[in-house]
Amino acid sequence: MKKIILVTISFLISYSIVSAQKKECGTMEYLENLKSQDPKLEDKMLKNEQAMQNWIKTHASSKSTKTTIITIPVVVHVVYNNSTENISTAQILSAIEIINKDYRRLNADTSATPSVFAALGADCGIEFCLATTDPNGNSTTGITRTATSQTSFSAGTYTGVIYSDDGVKYTSQGGIDAWNTSQYLNIWVCDINSYNGYATFPGSPASSDGVVVDFTRFGNFTAGSTSFMIRTASHEIGHWLNLNHTWGENWLTTSNCGDDFCNDTPTESAATYGCGTFPYNAFNACNSGPNGEMYMNFMDYTDCRNIFTQDQKTRMIAAINLFRPAFLNTVCQAGLVYGCTDPLACNYSPLANVNVDCNYTTCAGCMDEAAYSYDPLATISDSASCLYCDLSAATGVVDASSASALDGSVDLSVEGWNCITSASMASNLAAYSTGSTGIMFNMINTFGNPLTITGISQGSYGNYFGTATSYNIYYYPGSYVPQIGNANGWVTLASNAGGIVPSGGTPTVPVYSGAIPMTAVTIPAGATYGFYLGLNGTLTYSIAAGTAGVTPWGSNGALTITVGHSSSFPIVVNTPRAPLIQVHYEIQPWNSITYEWSNGATTEDLTGVAPGTYSVTATDCNGCSASATVEVGVISGLSEESLNTVFVHPNPANDMLFFSKTAETAEVLDLHGRIVKTTVNANNVDVNYLAAGAYSIRLTIKETVTVHRFVKE
Ligand SMILES: [Zn+2]
Repeated sequence: MKKIILVTISFLISYSIVSAQKKECGTMEYLENLKSQDPKLEDKMLKNEQAMQNWIKTHASSKSTKTTIITIPVVVHVVYNNSTENISTAQILSAIEIINKDYRRLNADTSATPSVFAALGADCGIEFCLATTDPNGNSTTGITRTATSQTSFSAGTYTGVIYSDDGVKYTSQGGIDAWNTSQYLNIWVCDINSYNGYATFPGSPASSDGVVVDFTRFGNFTAGSTSFMIRTASHEIGHWLNLNHTWGENWLTTSNCGDDFCNDTPTESAATYGCGTFPYNAFNACNSGPNGEMYMNFMDYTDCRNIFTQDQKTRMIAAINLFRPAFLNTVCQAGLVYGCTDPLACNYSPLANVNVDCNYTTCAGCMDEAAYSYDPLATISDSASCLYCDLSAATGVVDASSASALDGSVDLSVEGWNCITSASMASNLAAYSTGSTGIMFNMINTFGNPLTITGISQGSYGNYFGTATSYNIYYYPGSYVPQIGNANGWVTLASNAGGIVPSGGTPTVPVYSGAIPMTAVTIPAGATYGFYLGLNGTLTYSIAAGTAGVTPWGSNGALTITVGHSSSFPIVVNTPRAPLIQVHYEIQPWNSITYEWSNGATTEDLTGVAPGTYSVTATDCNGCSASATVEVGVISGLSEESLNTVFVHPNPANDMLFFSKTAETAEVLDLHGRIVKTTVNANNVDVNYLAAGAYSIRLTIKETVTVHRFVKE
């Protein structure tokens, strides 16, 4: 009797302590509320999970461990009611540093991971930085500050559970609207009423996508903060990248001991608090094994969180590829590009602005065993040579009409080859006497296949070369219109990018500097894109004599640069311009692949063949090869078209791409053969978020795979 009373008292005391604190994470309650508002969300997330599993299955571990670092631009929205909540910039910077260390497994407390679990620890290869360009193309600190009359956020209950009502994410509700959530990770920092943090999973509404963290849990400057208090953001960003709690409390399971879809995190029945002693086995009901639970995982609640696992990393990389693909190519600022600017060096990079290791003999090779060019003797890991042999072949078949007819055909498509050729072209951007803050021009892709602009370097002009030290570059997906910034569809490729100052040229002899670092942009075959290269975001126009029209300024077999305007032309505002440029680009010649068919044909496609079985091996310039076998059969009864032909439309596509038949799976692939989107059992796919450029879509319909090329505008 006495014992029972003691136990009861101790329970009540500990309960009262817990209830006085904010709950660590409100993500699941928040999700339940979202689902109650959108009946389709549950189904959407189930499909997302299916796509995740497919992606992980089709991307072997070697690919998910590629050394490429994904950099995610972050905007921190500080929404404060008093000066304590208006946390300092130093505190914000410390938070970004903590997150970066956690996602690169550079956190000091990895030493506290028990060794059996440490072997599973992952450098997730994901980094975060405060954005340097805002959605309008202007420079930014990546921090917004909003005073609010709200004393705290998140008030509402759903089936008795307090959830977060997202007021902090809307200017109209005392918070601040999100920046474009496909381009930035939005982190709101405020006083949250009931939680330390919550996040949206991929698939949630775009306007509220992001992470909310209580001001006491962001950065390590808060008085009395301890190591566990500052890991809330690392945890919530894990949800944002589609990680579940380690006890699998998610939309697919109703019981605890749930599945977090990671094989290397032992099952648990519920969150763990405090910090256990290894091996910690509080929930034996879940058979967590002899090592017990991984209570120190970032997706648990303990005070000693310090690890993401390899499977968690794979899920996060999959989520970025499938649902947040814009982050695959983002940079926060004009970064340093290491390499050798001498084209003869094996580590040549036309974009290099830090000239290192100009090695001609010993640097070739790649130390990554998964790379096609793996060389165990390589002394310098030359990332430019770390290509991966991921060639794949798919076929679309048009059958013969009868057992003897020679009217069968095969439409072959090959993806993932690595035969990119770098090239450059010099161009004079018209000889206007005074110059301007910037130059607008059109680039026309005359190559016949997609062409990727990777950089622009500025030459010299008269006495004025060497005057500019930083540049903005924009592009417009079409013949340019006279407006820049993000207005009217202009897209930022570089903002305040440092360029190497040219020197030594004369008005007629250009001296090109290193290319100005910029985000690469792909011009579809035959398309015209407008470009702006300049010193700031404002242009003044005037009529320039004698330069109107579309006379090519520069031209070669792949690219033509023209004035592209009718009557107006940028004119001087302050610093003189240098009107000689060199454009760096990459092309992927589709004819660089050779084909060997079983009937002796060496063409990509087959036409005029009899019914039968045909096999083909496609080999790219690196020796990567892929094979496919196809059965050309005989049509009976149904018309050829209705049985075999699938159309995709419209092409080019803007927001939705439709297929003429429902596909069991539809996979959108980029030019490198990477799957960037998957849908199942649908006759359309949303391509709205894709960057403009050329893609393929691989449709599986009744076990027949067809591949169709299309252009996203
Ligand atoms: Zn959570």
